[in-house]
Amino acid sequence: MDPTKAELKYLPGMGPARSELLRQELGVTTLDELVHCFPYRYVDRSRFYKISEIDSPSVYVQIRGRIVGFRQTGEGRAARLIAQFSDGERTIDLVFFKGIQYVLKSYQPGVDYIVFGKPNLFNGVYSFVHPDIETPSPDKLTGFMPLYHTTEKMKNKFLHSKALQKFIYLALRQMAGSVRETLPAGLIAQEHLLPLETALQQIHFPANPYQLDKARERLKYEELFYVQLAILRQAHNVRSRYRGHVFARVGDLFNRFYREFLPFQLTEAQKRVLREIRADMGSGVQMNRLLQGDVGSGKTIVALMSMLLALDNGYQACIIAPTEILATQHYESLTRLLQGLPVQVGLLKGSVRKKDRTGLHEGLRDGSLQILVGTHAVLEEEVVFRNLGLVVIDEQHRFGVAQRARMWAKNPQPPHVLVMTATPIPRTLAMTVYGDLDVSVIDELPPGRKPVTTWHVYENKRQQLQNFMRQQLQAGRQVYVVYPLIDESEKSDMKNLMDGYDSMCEVFSEYPVAMVHGRMKPVEKEEQMRRFVSGEARLLVATTVIEVGVNVPNASVMVIENAERFGLSQLHQLRGRVGRGADQSFCVLVSRYELSAETRKRLSIMTETTNGFEIAEADLALRGPGDLEGTMQSGLPFRLQLADLAHDGDMLQRVRRAAQAILEQDPLLTAPQNALLLEQLHLKSQGVVDWSAIS
Ligand code: ADP
Ligand code: MG
Repeated sequence: MDPTKAELKYLPGMGPARSELLRQELGVTTLDELVHCFPYRYVDRSRFYKISEIDSPSVYVQIRGRIVGFRQTGEGRAARLIAQFSDGERTIDLVFFKGIQYVLKSYQPGVDYIVFGKPNLFNGVYSFVHPDIETPSPDKLTGFMPLYHTTEKMKNKFLHSKALQKFIYLALRQMAGSVRETLPAGLIAQEHLLPLETALQQIHFPANPYQLDKARERLKYEELFYVQLAILRQAHNVRSRYRGHVFARVGDLFNRFYREFLPFQLTEAQKRVLREIRADMGSGVQMNRLLQGDVGSGKTIVALMSMLLALDNGYQACIIAPTEILATQHYESLTRLLQGLPVQVGLLKGSVRKKDRTGLHEGLRDGSLQILVGTHAVLEEEVVFRNLGLVVIDEQHRFGVAQRARMWAKNPQPPHVLVMTATPIPRTLAMTVYGDLDVSVIDELPPGRKPVTTWHVYENKRQQLQNFMRQQLQAGRQVYVVYPLIDESEKSDMKNLMDGYDSMCEVFSEYPVAMVHGRMKPVEKEEQMRRFVSGEARLLVATTVIEVGVNVPNASVMVIENAERFGLSQLHQLRGRVGRGADQSFCVLVSRYELSAETRKRLSIMTETTNGFEIAEADLALRGPGDLEGTMQSGLPFRLQLADLAHDGDMLQRVRRAAQAILEQDPLLTAPQNALLLEQLHLKSQGVVDWSAIS
């Protein structure tokens, strides 16, 4: 019998009731699972602090001394017991709200104790609230003491951090010598990692900070390694299963367009990306490429030229946008760019009439229609191509993996897929979550762009703001005013939006105002957008429904109300709606006066840079992967417990290289020496522990 798989209830002092509680609360049933509940922090017990040295409420400390007196205040629920504790120089209050009688019985004045906990700062005075109190003894733990998260129910049954610590200690002792290694020996040697057993011991009971770091490194490495291995292996499976159409020729259409029709010089970044795409599409393997490029970086032209490559090789191409407005805009700009070339372009959206649809369908089936621009309507089964060679998906985040797969099914041999996104995804996240996509980046804006000037103003400056807006309107420009409507059902948000609309209509009565929000009917929304896009309406009052891709080069001002309620990447996307023409554009972030330090930082980042990748990195550092990761977590094969995508980017790259090297030798991991990897992948994907339960 494997001792690491022994049930918890047989641990000394555990018993069936507590082990059942651990199963319910943490989902752990075996010793092995228990020792994978890692501490969330450590108390440095290698030294004693003096009370006079306490200067931070966030560091756990221990002090040595004696209780010099008790004092009780309040009654009933307001009852407090205060023990004055002296280290010989100064005193500090130990405060108890609960278990007052127990404390009075257990601890006597004049006896030596060790008190440890997190100092509490109140009205400029430090105290300890419900600290741990121990009698000093020679065999007490020294060094780093682990602290564990526990749930309310666990605490009620005395399964607090201290108790968990004891059980984990016992579990590790019983497992000693029997812990099976989960990483290949070669990898451990190559990466200078601790063996698993040592890492488990050291993460719970580190001998020193260096060992703790090594233990964390080893365990994080393992987490990231298996995530990467799973993603990369999956990607490889997909690739080997599907051969790709080979676009061997660069033909007439591409060359003529490049020489005679291209209205500007491509940027170096656009050229590089086109080369990458060409190499992919000529390789004989199906392309799955993510093209990242900041708003306005010129992705459309790259898409168009990639589609021409498909056409030159006798295939059709299709570009899908998330909304009708965007699809229409693409259709219009493609037909304009291709004017004079023998290319048939069609537009398919939900609102196309049945009669016209039939024509489109026929053209697609007999191949006379070469490029189709459309919305999700393209996914419908009745849309059949003669030979679809390339699908371009614009603005990825509205388009899931499942939908990508539906496009694949449009051909016996799946088309190449190019996914384009303006959401700046930091490299570490992209590597983890889009492990199945190769990534190209346009990291350069076309020449001559003026960065959007961004200001942060407080609500009381509304008068000046309106004067500025009027100036721009008088100069013939258009203006966006955006309100938060995070939760579409939020009544107060809806009211703010309506009030905003009314006040714009009143203040700028001489200019037509349009309005869009998510609760409008699609037809109505389209109509309002059309009014603004065509220039008929001069102001657009909107919620974030306009976030994605709309191109109105004449709009020069983006006013964002309640800017403090938006995340950085959202602010960046919104700002990307202006600065699309040749003239100077402006973004004004309006917020209330009282702001948290983090919010202030967020808004000041916006005023300092317009670089989407810098903003994404700052966002990741400020918030952690948060939302960005949230929307992408579904892309991860299993949860990360220790590793943190915001800060472990370097390790992630190391891990990815190692996983790639292994898969190059043995893509399906079927070789005998990789049996361990396959087994671990399988085990980990079952997701044993539910970390979200822990408070
Ligand atoms: P996005 O990457 O946000 O989709 P677009 O493809 O819509 O950006 O391009 C934004 C604008 O920049 C368009 O008006 C386009 O014609 C123009 N553009 C693209 N590439 C270049 C270039 N190399 N030089 C000058 N203008 C360019
Ligand atoms: Mg675009």
